[in-house]
Amino acid sequence: MATTTETTTLTLEEIQDFKGKYPKRLWYLFFSEMWERFAFYGMRGMLTVFMTTQLLMKDDEAQLKYGGIQAFIYAMTFVGGLFADKLLGFRKSIFWGGLLMIIGSFTLAVAPKELYYIGISFTIIGTGFFKPNISSMVGSLYSEGDPRRDAGFGLFYSGINIGALLGGWLCIVAAKEYSWNLAFALAGIGMIIGLLIFIFTKRTLGPIGLPPMAGKLSVKKILRNDIFVYAGSLLVIPLIYLMVKNSQYTDYFMYTVGPAALIYIIYEIAKLGDKASRQKMIAAMVFIIFSIFFWAFFEQAGGSLSLFALNNLNDTVLGIHMDPNAVNNSSNSVFVVIFSPLAGLLWLWLAKRKAEPNTVIKFGIGFLFVAVSFYIYYYTRFFADATGKTSLNLFTLAYLVSTLGELCLSPIGLSLMTTLAPRPLHGMMMGMWFLASAYGQYAAGILGAGMSKTADNATQMDKLMAYTDGYKNLAIYALIAGIVLIVISPLIKKLMHEVH
Ligand code: GLN
Repeated sequence: MATTTETTTLTLEEIQDFKGKYPKRLWYLFFSEMWERFAFYGMRGMLTVFMTTQLLMKDDEAQLKYGGIQAFIYAMTFVGGLFADKLLGFRKSIFWGGLLMIIGSFTLAVAPKELYYIGISFTIIGTGFFKPNISSMVGSLYSEGDPRRDAGFGLFYSGINIGALLGGWLCIVAAKEYSWNLAFALAGIGMIIGLLIFIFTKRTLGPIGLPPMAGKLSVKKILRNDIFVYAGSLLVIPLIYLMVKNSQYTDYFMYTVGPAALIYIIYEIAKLGDKASRQKMIAAMVFIIFSIFFWAFFEQAGGSLSLFALNNLNDTVLGIHMDPNAVNNSSNSVFVVIFSPLAGLLWLWLAKRKAEPNTVIKFGIGFLFVAVSFYIYYYTRFFADATGKTSLNLFTLAYLVSTLGELCLSPIGLSLMTTLAPRPLHGMMMGMWFLASAYGQYAAGILGAGMSKTADNATQMDKLMAYTDGYKNLAIYALIAGIVLIVISPLIKKLMHEVH
């Protein structure tokens, strides 16, 4: 584990003063995060099926639970980010988070049915410590105002999706062909690889990610703080266990955590000395709030779109036979891997010609892409046969379009959190960014459940009509959000000062 006496051969300035498009150290973080996402998405892909087929839950109960677990995971990133900023620093947080995720995965591998909620609870807390902080470390590789930052986050985002693709695919196959034990163990092995890469490369990161109090407090006091955080997070696990097990607690949790986090952020903003920093934080909050809407649309993927794929899609893409659910699970990652580097290069190319749209406009465009993609989901109804089955080709095209939208918002949002917030608040703001995803997941479940209100004896055709009606509405909402963002962009731009 990192200690304050660790060798810090390079200074921050030396690290940030790199040649070429990407800092070399980005690759270390890229591979650590790639494996963490391997574990995360591998597990994510298994949960609903596991709960329905092994824990014998009803479909709707399993979906609620799935939404709750996802919401908890992303909500915990706020706590993980906060403790990294105040006490642990990024490195120890990542180490601790990785360790808890490994324990969680192997708990599930040993006794998936019996220890299900315990394993999940470890994973929730672990991801909270790992996910936001590794993203913040990427931000630290760049000096303020470095135009290469967005492209760096774009590359990092490809790593996320390579991991998601491999883990999502391998774990599902392992569960289907071999056993659930092996599938959960694979997630654990992925996490071990990710953590080992981090442990062996973190020494090259100079002072990046060391505890905030390093050098200011005695080693003994720092150790006491660390133990406080480690023990505290272990003590929270039974609480998480109870809340995940009882779905109605998820609602209470969501009603309280967001407002509490918001009040805390307002307090931190008020404490900031200068007006410009305060305004930048307000701009960051606008982005965060809009991202909740974005994820509420986008995260239909794990819920309503997977049921739509199950019931209403044929099984060929460009003449090749494919399982519609596999396409629903993986096409997004495939498209991110293909288009993320291109998007990064496009932004750089435009920046050189002074034609790069500013971030608010990029966010707005992101929503417009999502609006188009949901319109395509709606439009599939006109290609349906008499049994209510429609075109997987068109569905896949819609995924391509929504992925372009994701690329205008998600990697840029990560990058933005590290430019708009002052450095001591990076972890917390990154956590806040992911907390918005938690609310997005939660809202996505509610929107999806609203769409699926068809009678028990509904035909495939009824379902097609119900879902596509819902998608048309989402297209309209996304369009409105995009237009609002573009209209208010001059105002937000002012709040962002030199950041663009
Ligand atoms: N797909 C991205 C990831 O896993 C973004 C997820 C999110 O912020 N909701 O990191």
